[in-house]
Amino acid sequence: MTDHKNRKHALTTRVVQALHFVEEDTGAVIPAIQPAATYARDENYEIRKPYWYRRDGSQTTSHAEAVIAEMEGAADSLLFSSGMSACSAVIEHLPTGAHVVAPKVMYHGVLHQLQTYEAKQRLNITYYTAGNLEELATAVRPGETTLVWVETPNNPNWEVTDIAAAAEIAHAAGAKLMCDCTGTPPSMTRALDFGADISFHSATKYLNGHSDVTAGVLSVKEVDDYWEEIALIRKLAGTVLQSFDAWLLIRGMRTLFLRVERASQNAMAIAKHFDGHDQVEAVLYPGLPSDPGHEVAKKQTGGQFGGMISIIVKGDEQTAIDVTRFCQLFYPATSLGGVESLVEHRKTVSGEGFPVHPRLLRLSIGIEDADDLIWDLEQALARANS
Ligand code: PLP
Repeated sequence: MTDHKNRKHALTTRVVQALHFVEEDTGAVIPAIQPAATYARDENYEIRKPYWYRRDGSQTTSHAEAVIAEMEGAADSLLFSSGMSACSAVIEHLPTGAHVVAPKVMYHGVLHQLQTYEAKQRLNITYYTAGNLEELATAVRPGETTLVWVETPNNPNWEVTDIAAAAEIAHAAGAKLMCDCTGTPPSMTRALDFGADISFHSATKYLNGHSDVTAGVLSVKEVDDYWEEIALIRKLAGTVLQSFDAWLLIRGMRTLFLRVERASQNAMAIAKHFDGHDQVEAVLYPGLPSDPGHEVAKKQTGGQFGGMISIIVKGDEQTAIDVTRFCQLFYPATSLGGVESLVEHRKTVSGEGFPVHPRLLRLSIGIEDADDLIWDLEQALARANS
C-alpha cells in the first residue's frame, strides 16, 4: 500500500521549493530579506538566540545554508562572502607549520593563497599531480599531514580525483580531506557521502547560477569543535554572506538541477563536436569516454558531467586569444557556472608562473541553444585561423 504520510520527497522538489518555505504570518511562498545588522535583546536583556549581530549571520543566510546542507547531506553548512574567504577560513585554521598536501595545478586563487602562507613559513606544503592517487599517497605523511586538499574536477584541465580513495589515504594518515567540487555542484556530487570531511563550493558559480553574487560555502557531516572554530573565524573576520546575496542565492538554487542538466547536455554536444576537429588539438572534458577521468567522474556525478570544458586550439598563443576576441555569443569573461556561456584564455587570467597550456581556452557552457554555441566557436576558430 502507498504510504501517503511518510513520503520523503525528492531532493529536486525540496530544493526547488527552498525546503517548502511558507512564511508563517502571511503565507508568502518566497522569503523576505532580513537585512538587520543588529538584533534587540529581550526584556531580561538576554540575546534572542541565535542572532545578535550581523557577523553571526541572519535568517536569510541561515535559510540559504539549510538548502545547501540538505543538498550536501550535511549536518551544517556555513556561507561566506566569497569562495576565497571560505577557503581562507580553512587555511587560517591550520596551526603554524602544519603539513598540507595540495595539487600542483588547481584554481589559481587558492593555489596563490596556499603559496603565500608557504612563503611566510606558516605552512609546509607537498604538491601532487591532480588526479594522481599514487603521488597523493606518497605526498601524505602519516601522523604529520593535517589537511589534504582535492579539487575535482580540477581547474583548468578537469582532471578527476577519486574522492573516496583520496579520503582513505587522508584518513589513514590522520589528516582531514577538503574537497573543492565547485565544477560539479551538490546536485551532481555530494563529496561528504564519498568520505570528504569538508565539502567546499564557490557558490558564486553553479549554486547561484546568475553571475550576480559572490559566495562560498563549507559543509560538514559533524558539528564538532573544529566546525565551531571555523564559524568563529568567519565571525571574527566578518566574512559571513550578506542577506541580499543570500536571498539571490536561494532564488538561484531553485533552478540548479535544471540548469546543470541543460549545461551538461550542451557541454557534451560541444565536446563531441570539437573532439577531433581540425583546428582543435585537444578537448579536455571528463564526459568524453576517452577522457582518463571518465569512469570515476561517472561514479561521482551520477552520469552528468557538468558544463566545464577546456580546449587546446591549434596554432599559437595569439590564435587562442583571437578565438576569445572573435566569439559573438560566448562572453570573454572569467568565472563559471552561470546561465550564459563564457570563454577565457586561461594563461592571461592565471598570470605568468601558473602552469597552464598557452593555447588553452576554458569554456563555461551555459544553457543557451547548443547549436548556437557550436556555431559561435566554429566562426571564431575560422576567423582566428584565416
Ligand atoms: N575554487 C574554484 C574551483 C573556483 O573556480 C573559484 C573561483 O573561480 C574559487 C574556488 C574561488 O571562489 P570565489 O571566486 O567565489 O571567491
